[in-house]
Amino acid sequence: MVNYIFVAGGVMSSVGKGAATASIAKILESKGFKVTAVKIDPYINIDAGTMNPIEHGEVFVTDDGTECDQDIGNYERFLNQDIGSDNYMTTGKVYLSVIQKERNLEFGGKCVEVVPDIPNEVISRIRKVGKKTKSDFVLIEIGGTVGEYQNLLFLESARMMKLQNPKNTLFVLVTYLPTIKIIGEMKTKPTQTSARLLNEAGIQADFILGRASVPLDEPRKKKISIFCNLDTKDVISAPDVDSIYEIPLNFEREGLGNRILKKLRLKARNEDFSDWKNLVETIKREKPPVKIGIVGKYFESGEFSLTDSYISVIEAVKHACWACGKEPVIEWLSAQKFEADSSKVEKLKEYDGIIVPGGFGVRGIEGKIKVIRYCRENKIPYFGLCLGMQLATIEFARNVCNIQGATSKEFDPKAKDPVIDIMEEQKGLLKNKDYGATMRLGAWDCKIEPGTISKRAYSKDNISERHRHRYEVNNRYRKQLEENGLVVAGKNLAKDLVEIIEIKNHPFFVGVQFHPELKSRPLSPHPLFIEFIRSSNKKRPN
Ligand code: GLN
Repeated sequence: MVNYIFVAGGVMSSVGKGAATASIAKILESKGFKVTAVKIDPYINIDAGTMNPIEHGEVFVTDDGTECDQDIGNYERFLNQDIGSDNYMTTGKVYLSVIQKERNLEFGGKCVEVVPDIPNEVISRIRKVGKKTKSDFVLIEIGGTVGEYQNLLFLESARMMKLQNPKNTLFVLVTYLPTIKIIGEMKTKPTQTSARLLNEAGIQADFILGRASVPLDEPRKKKISIFCNLDTKDVISAPDVDSIYEIPLNFEREGLGNRILKKLRLKARNEDFSDWKNLVETIKREKPPVKIGIVGKYFESGEFSLTDSYISVIEAVKHACWACGKEPVIEWLSAQKFEADSSKVEKLKEYDGIIVPGGFGVRGIEGKIKVIRYCRENKIPYFGLCLGMQLATIEFARNVCNIQGATSKEFDPKAKDPVIDIMEEQKGLLKNKDYGATMRLGAWDCKIEPGTISKRAYSKDNISERHRHRYEVNNRYRKQLEENGLVVAGKNLAKDLVEIIEIKNHPFFVGVQFHPELKSRPLSPHPLFIEFIRSSNKKRPN
């Protein structure tokens, strides 16, 4: 029998529903159950691939090539498990399949209606995940906030699921409790209102996770218990944490796991949290710092700086630092600032390593190329991810091979020297404006060359990594690049594509066409990130 736990959010967005869902999943897994998690996003987009990261945060990519919400990344990182396309749905995806079924006469001449046909589709998708993954628990995170028009149909689906499986369905509400500085008291009213909004949708929360700057005290818990109609023991503190990986342990301290099992009349099959506890101990321990600069453009939003666009890169750096016994110190460097003021690159000396992550479009490109040149010439460890690899190739072509006009067709479709060119199969797609889910996506094989940094890192000849791109190193320039010292350290043999570039006589200068950050997990950090951090640790020759 599969158990379903729905997680919804109240009061406001960004209260950490994703981390809460992943943490509950982790707790249940530590008790010996097979667990998976589903993300529902209420937007019309079929997937996250067409959205600007400033709008939506990082686009996470799974092995099977689904461009999805970053929360899937959280689930993979917490559960150390690959998650597939079935575990992600949007309003767009659900409607599209109902409409397609209607066109195929699958409703047998019936009038197809929003309720119950849309919730039925949602429910059948959730059930499919449970069955396919043979899980004891499916956690379902409903994006958005209760009370929003957008996620009503998903709450309706959750309500109907409970009707169909009354003994195996639970609801968790994650809310926020503000403390107004001048009053100095933590307020429960927004939580009460959210619980009522959930009641209006026909749902009673079995648990309330109270996000706040500090743990909830007894009076707060009692108040929530009375007004929101649940046991005080089911009001769980979710205080601010330094690291999200602490959250499962905090929830466990409040007995959340066993309360869940009790409600479902289950007993723990196992109790093993030792790996996770060790991880959190390492995170909290005092360690020597490693300062890593990330040069990007998707973190400026008005007066605020957002890090969500690069969340997997940040997490991958942290995982590798912890594995090397170092304290990650990560700083944001805006690519465009280097364009406006060349002297700013001197600042890069302060860093132990620089990353240029993935990206699209021409904005900020020249700034990033300046940064890469500085790292190459001054032997600062450099790690280029996807776009960061393409730009490292362009920089090398311009400044080492003397191909002055070297660029990518992405930035100049009429380029004379397209060192980075559009992939053959992408040409027709772009011409037809067929943009959705059409990049080179998901897992592809790569053969590693012996004697390279990559070989040292992976200790393997054949690897598989996740991709998301339309452009690639132009094979017409490969010979010239190699003759000048660029090392093609990894290739996709089937398609004859350059997957990894390196340069010699440098502590670490590696560019990868794929996104290794997507496969890094706290309990299995990515080998290339570990190698990067290791090189960053070493004192740089002047
Ligand atoms: N814009 C580049 C491409 O499409 C790189 C993509 C990326 O960095 N994910 O090939």
